[in-house]
Amino acid sequence: AGGVRISSRVYGAGRRPSPGAGGSAEPEAAARRGVRVGSCLVGRAKPAVGLPGTLPARRAVAMSSLSPIQIPSRLPLLLTHEGVLLPGSTMRTSVDSARNLQLVRSRLLKGTSLQSTILGVIPNTPDPASDAQDLPPLHRIGTAALAVQVVGSNWPKPHYTLLITGLCRFQIVQVIKEKPYPVAKVEQLDWLEEFPNTCKTREELGELSEQFYKYAVQLVEMLDMSVPAVAKLRRLLDSLPREALPDILTSIIRTSNKEKLQILDAVSLEERFKMTIPLLVRQIEGLKLLQKTRKHKQDDDKRVIAIRPIRRITHIPGTLEDEDEDEDNDDIVMLEKKIRTSSMPDQAHKVCVKEIKRLKKMPQSMPEYALTRNYLELMVELPWNKSTTDRLDIRAARILLDNDHYAMEKLKKRVLEYLAVRQLKNNLKGPILCFVGPPGVGKTSVGRSVAKTLGREFHRIALGGVCDQSDIRGHRRTYVGSMPGRIINGLKTVGVNNPVFLLDEVDKLGKSLQGDPAAALLEVLDPEQNHNFTDHYLNVAFDLSQVLFIATANTTATIPPALLDRMEIIQVPGYTQEEKIEIAHRHLIPKQLEQHGLTPQQIQIPQVTTLDIITRYTREAGVRSLDRKLGAICRAVAVKVAEGQHREARLDRPDVAEGEGYREHIVEDTKPESINDTTDLALPPEMPILIDFHALKDILGPPMYEMEVSERLSQPGVAIGLAWTPLGGEIMFVEASRMDGEGQLTLTGQLGDVMKESAHLAISWLRSNAKKYHLTNASGSFDLLENTDIHLHFPAGAVTKDGPSAGVTIATCLASLFSGRLVCSDVAMTGEITLRGLVLPVGGIKDKVLAAHRAGLKRVIIPQRNEKDLEEIPGNVRQDLTFVTATCLDEVLNAAFDGGFTVSTRPGLLNSKL
Ligand code: ADP
Repeated sequence: AGGVRISSRVYGAGRRPSPGAGGSAEPEAAARRGVRVGSCLVGRAKPAVGLPGTLPARRAVAMSSLSPIQIPSRLPLLLTHEGVLLPGSTMRTSVDSARNLQLVRSRLLKGTSLQSTILGVIPNTPDPASDAQDLPPLHRIGTAALAVQVVGSNWPKPHYTLLITGLCRFQIVQVIKEKPYPVAKVEQLDWLEEFPNTCKTREELGELSEQFYKYAVQLVEMLDMSVPAVAKLRRLLDSLPREALPDILTSIIRTSNKEKLQILDAVSLEERFKMTIPLLVRQIEGLKLLQKTRKHKQDDDKRVIAIRPIRRITHIPGTLEDEDEDEDNDDIVMLEKKIRTSSMPDQAHKVCVKEIKRLKKMPQSMPEYALTRNYLELMVELPWNKSTTDRLDIRAARILLDNDHYAMEKLKKRVLEYLAVRQLKNNLKGPILCFVGPPGVGKTSVGRSVAKTLGREFHRIALGGVCDQSDIRGHRRTYVGSMPGRIINGLKTVGVNNPVFLLDEVDKLGKSLQGDPAAALLEVLDPEQNHNFTDHYLNVAFDLSQVLFIATANTTATIPPALLDRMEIIQVPGYTQEEKIEIAHRHLIPKQLEQHGLTPQQIQIPQVTTLDIITRYTREAGVRSLDRKLGAICRAVAVKVAEGQHREARLDRPDVAEGEGYREHIVEDTKPESINDTTDLALPPEMPILIDFHALKDILGPPMYEMEVSERLSQPGVAIGLAWTPLGGEIMFVEASRMDGEGQLTLTGQLGDVMKESAHLAISWLRSNAKKYHLTNASGSFDLLENTDIHLHFPAGAVTKDGPSAGVTIATCLASLFSGRLVCSDVAMTGEITLRGLVLPVGGIKDKVLAAHRAGLKRVIIPQRNEKDLEEIPGNVRQDLTFVTATCLDEVLNAAFDGGFTVSTRPGLLNSKL
């Protein structure tokens, strides 16, 4: 159903004719006025005055409210086929065909009289594109029209747009000429008499026109009267003669061209009325339908608006129609019920009751509504009293820990102790365990195993980079977007109050303006305080005493002392190569195979290959990188296996004629044993795929780490030290060189203060003992720094190094430089030195020794007082290495140089001195 298209043009809203519309200013203005009035008055009675552009004509037009229009008896014909112009309406038509163009040029652009602007518009008749073509059959009836405006352009081709106003109907009597444009003798049809003469028709017509008028009024009144054009139309309905209405209304309402043509052809007024009334009725019905649907929508809107206030004021459940509303109310009732039945402590219960009372009074649109509701939901969800029962069977725990983890005896022992004590004394306020060790040594996975052995829920809280204390303790509820802290969130997630919480990476807690999260953790971890831990968001105490906290860290150095004090540190050292091989074959490889959908029948990784991966493709204390490399191998093999199966299936397809047989064949093929009878590359690979050195190179690329020790030690002034880093032990080269200068010592390689001091200590000791060891500078003087500068460098300059344990290495390196002797290439050392040449104990011996072993060194010099630490070192590593324990630098130097570094007492030398 469409609306009514109202064209204000119909009522002569006053469109200026273009200058090109012909004629001088005066007749033109008159024409304009004439058109305006004329168009309204088409159909007025009594034919009388013509329309010449003379004074009487002007008067006639000006007074046209009284005078009817008479059209010339010969009219140039404008052939149109786009629309139908009805008397009394205005239309724009475009002119681009040959005859029509001629007409416009010679009649409208050149002509100066008003008369020349009257055309006969023939509808439904396309004008042929070229002159040469014959005229098509012309529609019999046309509309005499006044050209009000001509707008033209020459680009892209000559083209005019005419604004024409219909005056009256005419009928073609005879076509006088066809070129350059058709001209016809015409007969005016609308004599525009008020009513036909006979009485009968007058009555009938009167009735018809009355009926028509009523419909027209009904239609117009359905429209929006505030629109000026509608108001004007309403006025026109009364002021216009009834006979003019059918034509005008037909051009206003939604009608097809065909319908308009029928109206045009309806010459008799009676017929015209009869034909137009159904069109009007149709339009009215369409409008009614439209208004009905619009009203529905408006009503809905109004209803929603009306309901809301009622709900807010009354709050009587059951009386509300809105579904949402019901749901909300249900929610609140549910929430209330949950609070009543929840086993939360009294204090929390009171808070909840208070909050729900507030919530009920609150309008839903308030931001606080959602906040309070979230708060209450969290409160009822928290496991205030819900816990799992511990399964404390130490024997089972031991088996489980052993099954999950290879080696790490010390850690497992301590964990079992801890669990045993828990078994004996249920509410143990024991220390918090903190596993400290390099990455990938299984700290997290032991934590998970502990939870499994106890039958508790496990939740990991990653603390790395947390620098806001509200991350731990929550935001106060006054903040927008406030949330509980990670501890309370974790409890909500696991749904019990005695989970195992793994506080991962406590050594990487940050600090910022938002407070110190480590300080917030103090309360969480202190067994004396954490039974009433208060999260800022909850604002009521929650008992954390049942939670088992386990922390992990890479180093204790960055853990704040107060926090460290509350934890029991268990060192988890890195693994030896042998341990890694075992871990790989017992745990990592089976896990990777499963993850990649492979079976041991499809891939075989021998131990030598694992060792190759460990030594040449990874350099780490843990096994994470090893795990990744094994993953890469599995992926590569998975591709081969999948390709092989595919190829096999394709190869076999032509051989198998029947579908049944084909299926059986494929089933057989998926068994890897059935494919090992060919070496052809185009055929599937032999199973199991063996990962040897070459395969390793194909998959992982060339080895990343090669043993470089012997190369580096081919000159005097280089020694190998052992360093401890949070990532495990490492071997570290120390290089020294001397040059002419003024006795300055340059140190490079990002050294800390302690290390710089060690360097000074070593130089001072060597200078004071230069004669004893016969150490000289370049010019042979015992004053080592005379005219000499020394440069000490610790490679991997991007890594900051500090600590006293490099003392012996620096001393050895400088001794090599000044003596010109090479340090043994298979010796590594560690130890702090004093000014008098004593060697003091250092930490991290196990990691350092393992690093030396990894690097393929044979002898390790350690401080004597560290001898006890050697017990921790696995037997096989101890067997491979020789340990030299030293109490003073003499012993260190003796062990570091081939043939010893003894006091120079050779007589020859002394003689030459004398
Ligand atoms: P961390 O927490 O120390 O950085 P993870 O616990 O994440 O290391 O361990 C990394 C991976 O190495 C895990 O898949 C773990 O199962 C495996 N892993 C480490 N140590 C062992 C071990 N001793 N026995 C079996 N698997 C181990």
